[in-house]
Amino acid sequence: MKPTFLQTLISKRNSTLRRWIINNFLVIFVILVGLLLSGAILLRSYYYDSARQYVNSRMNTVAGLLSRSYSDARDNYSTEVRNTVVNWTEAGRIELIAVGQGNAVITSSGFAPGYDLNTKDLRDALAGQTGYGYFTGKLPSGENVVAVSLRLPENSGGFEAMRMMSSLSDIDRQVDGIILAMIIVSACIMILIAASGGYFVRSIVVPVKSLAVMAGRYAKGDFSVRIAKKTDDEIGELCDVINKMAEDLQTADSIKNEFISSVSHELRTPLTAIKGWSETIESFPDDRETITKGMHVIRIETERLSQMVEELLDFSRMQNGKFSLQPAKMDILAELGEAVLIYTERARQEGKTITYEEPDMLPFIVGDKNRLRQVFINIIDNAVKYTDPGGEISVVAGMADDKTIEIDVTDTGVGIAPADLPRIKTKFFKPNHTRRGSGIGLAVADEIITMHGGTVDIKSELGKGTTVTVKLPIIYLTK
Ligand code: ADP
Repeated sequence: MKPTFLQTLISKRNSTLRRWIINNFLVIFVILVGLLLSGAILLRSYYYDSARQYVNSRMNTVAGLLSRSYSDARDNYSTEVRNTVVNWTEAGRIELIAVGQGNAVITSSGFAPGYDLNTKDLRDALAGQTGYGYFTGKLPSGENVVAVSLRLPENSGGFEAMRMMSSLSDIDRQVDGIILAMIIVSACIMILIAASGGYFVRSIVVPVKSLAVMAGRYAKGDFSVRIAKKTDDEIGELCDVINKMAEDLQTADSIKNEFISSVSHELRTPLTAIKGWSETIESFPDDRETITKGMHVIRIETERLSQMVEELLDFSRMQNGKFSLQPAKMDILAELGEAVLIYTERARQEGKTITYEEPDMLPFIVGDKNRLRQVFINIIDNAVKYTDPGGEISVVAGMADDKTIEIDVTDTGVGIAPADLPRIKTKFFKPNHTRRGSGIGLAVADEIITMHGGTVDIKSELGKGTTVTVKLPIIYLTK
């Protein structure tokens, strides 16, 4: 049989419900039982005390009457004692007994008491100085009683004491009723606490357990599941955070998979070309034209491969925080010119033209020339790559203001959709899957320019072309 929720939780050594029961429920239970017990004892002793005081007050009245008659008419004293017992008006509640020689001589009930009269109260009254004796306790019959005895003066016509005794059965019944009511109320309180506590613990434990199940699935790489948010409290907030985390992980996971597949594809394309051409050259060792053409392709593809591997390495260094610049005083035009030169021939072969507009000179800047050349290569490579044959690429360098150098690379290529533009510099983002590329080139370029204190801005219109603007601050060398 399937165990119930309660059984499952209690069976776990460290379950929240178990802790709640031990730390909370049991403590309240013990406090309530303690209150009940002490309440019952206090209540019973209060009622018993009241009964004893009442009987005592009645005995005082009787003592007053008798002592008056003792001093007024000593001869009639024994008759007075007898009359007091016979005419006792409270016989229903309190039994009055006139005692002589340890026995009941006359009783208000008219019957001889069915027990030994040698009780504590009588002994104390006869022996003690005050002349009073008290007893509260059980008779041999099991009945609880309160008894007060009063010693009579000597020469009382055979009487030695008066004794009053009242049964506590009514009080016992009353107190038992009150205690029962208190037990019922306490039980109801415990049931209420158990129900609300159980509900409370459940409202935490159940979602936490489902969170744990979900986290287990995420750990296994299944990011498709989401947690249903049921409450608007801290647990609900936790659900939101975990759902958001799962969403981000899912996005990152799919980006990573896409990246791996596109990088593998990127690596495979030049490798296929290199393999194909090397096989061809091997097959035609004497064909000069084939060898020249093949070697050219092999060189271009090898360059592309090493450029990509460098880009990947730079990217990985950036991710690890190990990417650093080696700044020095440098001529930016030299690096830009070299990058333009690398692509001019390639663009021409692909039927595209590159125009380069450079000023006579630009101020020297402090920067890492290899990294900046790499940025220019990347931006011009993109412009060539995303421009169809017949298109034009223009590279313009100049001063944006007296402190900033500006380089614009404009193409008449495919352009970028407005929706993609804001994410275009994000790593792995590659909206156009038909062209080669890993989707990290711009991210790396942006990082390098940012490290130089500059900016990379991209303006684009889909189908018309793109302009990438690099702005670099001039840091004048003072030394
Ligand atoms: P990739 O290696 O894919 O070119 P990049 O980070 O250099 O990666 O560029 C990211 C994306 O930005 C490209 O996939 C492409 O969609 C877009 N992009 C970059 N430059 C241009 C451009 N000049 N014209 C059109 N799209 C571009």
